[in-house]
Amino acid sequence: MPLTLYVDGPRWRLHLTTTAAAHPGIVPVAKGNGYGFGVPRLARRAEWLGADTLAIGTYREAETVRKRFSGDILVMEPWRPFLGDISYDTRIIHTVGRENDLAALAERGARPRVVLEGLTSMRRHGFTAEAMRRLPATPPGVRVEGHALHLPLGTGHVHEVERWLGAAPASRRWFISHLTGAELTTLRQQHRGVELRPRIGTALWLGDRACLEARTTVLDAHSVRRGDRLGYRQRTVLRAGTVLIVSGGTAHGIALEAPTSAATARQRAVAIAKGGLDAAGRALSPFVVAGRQRWFVEPPHMQASMIFLPAGTAVPRIGEEIAVQVRFTTTTFDHVSVS
Ligand SMILES: *Cc1c(COP(=O)(O)O)cnc(C)c1O
Repeated sequence: MPLTLYVDGPRWRLHLTTTAAAHPGIVPVAKGNGYGFGVPRLARRAEWLGADTLAIGTYREAETVRKRFSGDILVMEPWRPFLGDISYDTRIIHTVGRENDLAALAERGARPRVVLEGLTSMRRHGFTAEAMRRLPATPPGVRVEGHALHLPLGTGHVHEVERWLGAAPASRRWFISHLTGAELTTLRQQHRGVELRPRIGTALWLGDRACLEARTTVLDAHSVRRGDRLGYRQRTVLRAGTVLIVSGGTAHGIALEAPTSAATARQRAVAIAKGGLDAAGRALSPFVVAGRQRWFVEPPHMQASMIFLPAGTAVPRIGEEIAVQVRFTTTTFDHVSVS
């Protein structure tokens, strides 16, 4: 009785190959919940796409991808001395952003492969530009595969990237996240000797939303009268109608939105429309019945949710699937069905 992600396979695969062709040197990113598809499936798809390198979020994810993807594995979490028992196999490329870490990694022997990351305007992690300038062109004890930049979302990155190119002028290869196609083109024209490798997740796996559809299963339906009590909190029903029990709860990430970054009133309204709280504290569920998102009767349970259908709404059959408006990066599906 699963929460399922249905994928129009031919259309999705066409989008993947088109995106890869439009971004020469693409490094697909597979991490976290695998953008809804799961990391194992994305690793196999990256292999199918012919990518030579796959970027992952954490060292833990290396175990999952190494059996499914045969190329290099670029780990984007920074290497730190306290990471414990991680893989140093030769397919792993470590991300390094501190002088001490570079020295410690070099001391391990076997010349681990590294990319040297710059601390961009994101301010997440990496060498400052001054620290990067101080590094020798070929630091001893490691093999430098290139440099890396993680940029904020949006546009206007060309100047920032060029400043970084100046901080490591000997570098021939840069792994860069969140450049637009136009920015890549501009930079490639102006820096012909430099190989730019775009790291792309969302725009690759989720770039064609029309081929993705989330659906879940109706588990039960109960008619209720005004004043009836129900749920964990035994709340009172305010109107007659039907309470629908559907598959999908907090364990799937249902109604657990990433903290909203909505800056404007309109964006906040959109966030509410995707499953947030309204002014009265009621929560609009992501479950769609008869063309409309329906209200939660109470906050979602671990693996199921209770939603309310006012009297007069066509009640779906038990076992029927209904649409769910989810965010793919925060949803863990029970099943992914690719046609
Ligand atoms: C997650 C991540 C990406 C991919 O980001 P998308 O917005 O999904 O394309 C790229 N680079 C880094 C460092 C990341 O952490």
